[in-house]
Amino acid sequence: MILAGDVGGTKTLLGLFEPDAVRPRPISVRSFGTLDYDTFETMIAAFLADAAIDAARIGVTCLGAAGPVTDNAADLTAVPWRVDGARIRATTGAARVVVINDLQAMAQAVPVLQDAELYVLQRGARAPGGNMAVIAAGTGLGEALIHHVDGRYVPVPSEGGHADFPARTEREFAVVRDLTARYGRADVEHVVSGRGLINIHRMTHAAACGAAVDVDDPHAAAAITSAALDRRCPGCVEALDLFVEAYGAQAGNLALRSVATGGVFIGGGIAPKILPALTSGAFMHAFRAKSPLDGLLGAMPVNVILNAEAGLLGAAVFGSQL
Ligand SMILES: [Zn+2]
Repeated sequence: MILAGDVGGTKTLLGLFEPDAVRPRPISVRSFGTLDYDTFETMIAAFLADAAIDAARIGVTCLGAAGPVTDNAADLTAVPWRVDGARIRATTGAARVVVINDLQAMAQAVPVLQDAELYVLQRGARAPGGNMAVIAAGTGLGEALIHHVDGRYVPVPSEGGHADFPARTEREFAVVRDLTARYGRADVEHVVSGRGLINIHRMTHAAACGAAVDVDDPHAAAAITSAALDRRCPGCVEALDLFVEAYGAQAGNLALRSVATGGVFIGGGIAPKILPALTSGAFMHAFRAKSPLDGLLGAMPVNVILNAEAGLLGAAVFGSQL
């Protein structure tokens, strides 16, 4: 049996899986508020107690964590505790614990996803043997490359979400000036993430927000997208427009860096909730606007991952391969 985890800044999924030839089968999956626990070990103990599973039955534990991984441990970017493989093994008695980056985990799921779990933004023409890439805006922004090497896919983690934000328009230059004044620098995640949407909202509201969005509310990003999709506030509409274009442009940058002729996959919690905005044309236009390589990008398949548990599934896939 495999214990898999997808440890995010806001939400953590834990699941027990049985290995299978292609895709591990979930037995029990539970969602936790990440900050509801002082340590990750107490969350795992609570999950195993609820599922009535003895840790001795778990062969491999594989955890995807939202942060850079060194020495089988990760300090989460947005959470004050650590995911430490050795410590989890010592406290739970699990046989083998492997910590990987959360987007590396999501990338592991990509080759086993079925058509019904994907929404096509651009059909393109998949190049057999081509690389792939995953970008996922949620609480933060994650990116991973999937290199095709000697007939197999090798997911490679990245901290590209913290690279500098590349402004393309006068409006985006204004965003960079504002973010630099506020944070000392403008990284992509300051724009393309739930928190990024709140940053943009501040800039598109010289007057009061017509939808009365409280930017200090934990659900502010969802409130902005819903106000924008329902067209209840022009400032929220402008904020989502800017977000969608920046997201498409960054997906295009990642596609260039990885030469993702095998496909680009848009994961994370935000994309499935803003499908009407992603399909309006602005996202794919910004994705392809990379002259002289717009033809290359126009041929790449681009899909939204609809499966909200793709990161968890990918951790289970990785665990089943160990
Ligand atoms: Zn508004």
